[in-house]
Amino acid sequence: MKTSILLFFLIIFLTAGTGLSQNQSIKILYGGISHESNTFIPYMTKKEDFNQTRDIEENEITKTLNNYYKEKNVEFVFTLVARTGPYGVVTKEAYESFRDEILQGARSAGKLDGIMLQMHGALHAEGYEDAQLDFIRSLRAIVGNDIIISASFDLHGNMSKEFVSELNILTAFRTAPHVDASETIERAVDLLFQAIQKNQHPVIAHINIPVLIPGEKGITAVEPLKSLYEYLPAISKKEGLLDASIFVGMPWTDVYRAGMSVQVVAEDEEYLAQAQKEAQHLAEQIWAKRKELKFDVPTDDIDGAIRTAIEAPESTVFITDSGDNTTAGAAGDGTLVMEKLMELGVADAVVAGIVDPQAVAECEKVGVGGIINMEIGGKLDTVFSKPLHIKGKVMKISENGPALDTERKPAVVDVNGILLVLLNQRRSFTAPEDFAKVDIDPLKHKIVIVKLGYLFQGLRDIAPRTIMALTPGFANQTIENLHYNNVRRPVYPLDPEMSWNVEIW
Ligand SMILES: [Zn+2]
Repeated sequence: MKTSILLFFLIIFLTAGTGLSQNQSIKILYGGISHESNTFIPYMTKKEDFNQTRDIEENEITKTLNNYYKEKNVEFVFTLVARTGPYGVVTKEAYESFRDEILQGARSAGKLDGIMLQMHGALHAEGYEDAQLDFIRSLRAIVGNDIIISASFDLHGNMSKEFVSELNILTAFRTAPHVDASETIERAVDLLFQAIQKNQHPVIAHINIPVLIPGEKGITAVEPLKSLYEYLPAISKKEGLLDASIFVGMPWTDVYRAGMSVQVVAEDEEYLAQAQKEAQHLAEQIWAKRKELKFDVPTDDIDGAIRTAIEAPESTVFITDSGDNTTAGAAGDGTLVMEKLMELGVADAVVAGIVDPQAVAECEKVGVGGIINMEIGGKLDTVFSKPLHIKGKVMKISENGPALDTERKPAVVDVNGILLVLLNQRRSFTAPEDFAKVDIDPLKHKIVIVKLGYLFQGLRDIAPRTIMALTPGFANQTIENLHYNNVRRPVYPLDPEMSWNVEIW
């Protein structure tokens, strides 16, 4: 009896010494600005382009988190999560209004135990060289340096040392194509929760690696990155270390910090040297293997890609119109692929899709079965594309499409056997479900062209064969041909013969 009482007090004593007790409530501010900004496209991403969530229950991921942590006595003070698909630089007005709203949330939240930020990492805003740095510094000015800030990222983020040094915890996706968005956010929140409970004050070792590659050369299921990403969880298990990330970066954001980077989170300052050692090890391996970072599918120009597809023994060949990849911020209204299919007389293909709200309106006007005879596309991308004249029969005006939240629904037009999906918003077909929404079974057609770089996982799983067409556009895969003004130099592969030593960076 006596021993058990002693044990009881010993447990109480130990718990008190290691941070918060189980019943003490924890208050976490939740917010974020998530955008992948392509600086090559001459259009801006405006406030109304963002999906703005102000209620934790509105989004499945945060709703699940809320329910889970409620039981652990955590109160989330949910401010704003603003996010949208990749496109041009974010307007000053949009960035400042999102930032200020989250800052206001921090000011009025009362005493906080931690902050969770849901970010992308490749945010670039008008008038801000590093908007994320401005954001985090503004937040620190309000909450101080002692509060633990954790953040989740897309691995296509471009991270600066100054920005990372303001965070305590960060973790990024470990898959590209991405299939672990919710897991990553959950990990960031769990690390934050653990740090608060255990009274840790995590710090991050960060190294920028002078390697600039398109995401298409950074597929995580393919070597050389496969083994490196698979090794990350093992780093988190080492004594004093909490997490590790590898950023592939975003090459269509012309900023100094663009490119690859690695981070290792240490639970406290005393383990920072260990974290730096691990980060250095990762950076050295990436640098040593930089020449192995290659496309994982055959590439060709659009003519070659279509000709190969026509002659292919496979019943369906997917071709990605990589220069006009909307998931990398391009316009999505390039007409080159359609023009080439027509020129080569292809009679069985799907083009999903070309953005043109006026053409969709025309389809609505003539109705299903009607004929449209007009110029389509080439209105946003007037640099690499031009409008194309088509004549075709309206096959369907869909109730739904990859353009979900819009008034005007996608239309399918048959142009001599080519099924062209006209969209009223910049969206990509990334999964079989997107095709189902417009009643198209891609596997019933010989050639399927999508506005992507790499195929997203759902399409990778079904595609019998894929060719990446190296088309012109705002997401040009041949980055050696882009006119960069701001990226760090030297950088591989723009300066292919450069040498680099991780210690001197
Ligand atoms: Zn990404």
